[in-house]
Amino acid sequence: MVFSLPSHLAVSIEKQGTGKITKKRFPRQHGKHSEIRTSEYEFRFNLNGEIKFIRGLNTNWPHPSEQLKRTDGNDWVHYTVGDDSSENGIISWMGDYYLPCLPYPSNSIWDVNYLSNPNIMNAFSAWSQLYANLYGGAQKNSLPSKAKDLIGLILNNDDGMLYDRSKKLSEITGGRVSVLPPDTRHVDYEIIPVIIADGCLYHCKFCCVKSAKRFQARSRTEIREQIRRLKEFYGRNLENYNALFLGNHDALEAGDELVCFAALEAFETFGFGGPLVRAPRLFLFGSVGSLLKMEHHLFEKINQLPFYTYINIGFESVDVSTLAFIGKPLDELRICEAFRKMLEINATYTNIEITCNFLIGEQLSPEHYQSLTKLLQDVLCLPNGKGTVYLSPLKNSPKKRELLPQFYEIKNKSKLPVYIYLIQRL
Ligand code: SF4
Repeated sequence: MVFSLPSHLAVSIEKQGTGKITKKRFPRQHGKHSEIRTSEYEFRFNLNGEIKFIRGLNTNWPHPSEQLKRTDGNDWVHYTVGDDSSENGIISWMGDYYLPCLPYPSNSIWDVNYLSNPNIMNAFSAWSQLYANLYGGAQKNSLPSKAKDLIGLILNNDDGMLYDRSKKLSEITGGRVSVLPPDTRHVDYEIIPVIIADGCLYHCKFCCVKSAKRFQARSRTEIREQIRRLKEFYGRNLENYNALFLGNHDALEAGDELVCFAALEAFETFGFGGPLVRAPRLFLFGSVGSLLKMEHHLFEKINQLPFYTYINIGFESVDVSTLAFIGKPLDELRICEAFRKMLEINATYTNIEITCNFLIGEQLSPEHYQSLTKLLQDVLCLPNGKGTVYLSPLKNSPKKRELLPQFYEIKNKSKLPVYIYLIQRL
């Protein structure tokens, strides 16, 4: 349904986008959303009337495929297409056509500070202006009731309310999710977080996302209550989600029973798995210890879940002196054993994909790169392109873009897919 409003606003209410998130050069809208267009910007809102995307339509906007996206944690992320649209550009580093530029320090290979770009920042002034125009337009009785309802929802979600809602989400999950698994890029980081355990096993020195807590699984009662409150929190917009993140840094260590309990409880409560969309996605982190500890047959239970499951494991290095340097209390034999198990699980279970992370950075030794390249070069078993290797730049690495030749050297020799891991919070 499309309406015209004062100030030359064109409104589309609850447009149905594509059923799933697709990797295309031009951003496709998935799920259901409403849209308001001015002559210069396109604003998209979720089913709760919360602003979600802004895209410039004027000639000053950097590129027609670029947009600003607001996350559930209330961060505005600028999706840039970069300066090289060939197959050697962002698609070859990230596996996607966009690089998310974050408004907080991260480990990106290419820092783009959109906050200092007036052509992007003008979009926020346009959003404030739109809000003011809607405030005036909403008083008009002549508007169709659907348009009035939409405007009412949008006006209820001013900047203060959006901030408060992000705090509420953190409160429900017991703290902000400091990092999402790299595989969540497959759903454009659009996940519902359910935290089933806190802390981690290793408290590695190099890690910038860890919590100080020792590992502790949460109780079923707490998880069930969290899921109930999340359903209430997401409200009508729940239907736009089809992916779950079981957190926090090592959900696999909580064991197959708790993972399956939480996944099934969330599946039922959130109503995942509608007939028109592909299988819901489940994301979690594991560790070398939790991967090695879990017996093979227990993965069968995860394989039977009504999800396609990604488990991401932090290996970091296969060189013993590098492991000591970064303060990860493991040796290369354990890493190699876990790496082999990853390949076996990927080959055995059709609904599970284990991916892994290794570090890159100027500070790391030639031995680190040699041993990593050899590991990835010598892989014999290649289960359907599964087992993506993510290379994560050390956060304090100077000259990050200079790491790209190193990245390509590893990628070109690897038998497994290799991409950059951008640390992104919710
Ligand atoms: S890398 Fe993983 S195991 Fe190590 S401190 Fe960070 S969260 Fe914990």
